[in-house]
Amino acid sequence: MITFPHIGPVYLTAALMLKELGIPAAVPPANTSETLERGKSVSPEEMCMPFKFMAGNLIQAYEQGARSVIMPATVGPCRLGEYGELLKRLLDEAGYEMEWHLLDSPGTIGIRQWFARLKQAGRNRTVKGPRVLFICIRAVRLMQQIDNLEAEIKRRSAYMKEPGSCVGLLRGFRKALSEQERMAGAFAAVRDCKRALRKLPLESGRRPVKILVTGEIYTSIETAANQGLEERLMLMGCEVRRPVTISWWIRHTIRAGLGVGRKAGSNYLPYSIGGYARETVQDMEQSGEDGIIKIMPSGCMPEIVAKAASSVMEEEHGIKVLHLIFDEMRGAAGYETRIEAFVDMLERRKCVLSGN
Ligand code: SF4
Repeated sequence: MITFPHIGPVYLTAALMLKELGIPAAVPPANTSETLERGKSVSPEEMCMPFKFMAGNLIQAYEQGARSVIMPATVGPCRLGEYGELLKRLLDEAGYEMEWHLLDSPGTIGIRQWFARLKQAGRNRTVKGPRVLFICIRAVRLMQQIDNLEAEIKRRSAYMKEPGSCVGLLRGFRKALSEQERMAGAFAAVRDCKRALRKLPLESGRRPVKILVTGEIYTSIETAANQGLEERLMLMGCEVRRPVTISWWIRHTIRAGLGVGRKAGSNYLPYSIGGYARETVQDMEQSGEDGIIKIMPSGCMPEIVAKAASSVMEEEHGIKVLHLIFDEMRGAAGYETRIEAFVDMLERRKCVLSGN
């Protein structure tokens, strides 16, 4: 059986795609403190948190019978460029031997090599011919629709009569997706959720605080790594936007592989220094929101540099940024207090600026 590490809702689409391709898959249990503990047991202490979560996922998947791993990587200057090799070595040494399929960035290894590795990973599929391409394209479209819908829910949440109604809708949507056996069912769940969203009662005259969530990609997308940050903000009545999603990552990776797309550097961070730190700084520069929450896991090298760049921006442009560093301690109270204080400050500032 093949497996893959978790990152946000990707597993929902990946599991359906593998099923339709006829590739037996083992989806690791959702990320919890136990996942992190299992990952820590084989990881060097100084590794960043995403590495430890992924190591935990792969150990748990091995115990479910997985003997082959598909792992996206970037060959970048930060640790992500070495995740695959290092993870493989550590897991092999700990007795979790599997066959590895490293999907490094096509921009680095070349499109041909990338497709060759993908083909090798899927060599046991029962589906052959053009249908394979059809299923893969449908999976990408599904991922895109899920990301778009979730972004819409997070935007509209702030205008609801009941601030928690969109959180309930989002949870129900993910549960409905996880119960699907085919992609057709998942597309239907997207349509049902869109209809339900339109029916939720709005409150007129609301002027919510708008927040951009940006930072390290794994911590931004994976709810367990950021302690449910976006749901907290939704419950506080904020409008939330997060530009970095998995469908963004897919587009970005394909464009980079083809040598097209966003290359212009930011004024504050002109070069790529690993991870997506340059994109973080660009998103902050272009933000029109009332405030920015910039997140990263402890030990993340590129995002520490982005933090320094953002401090200059804060001084020069007066933007308001809350820096949250998520570590392996799973207590939420400290984060909660800081987020509440930040949102409170933004609300007051918005009132003062608008003369109310
Ligand atoms: S961007 Fe940061 S968290 Fe992500 S792999 Fe690199 S060092 Fe680790």
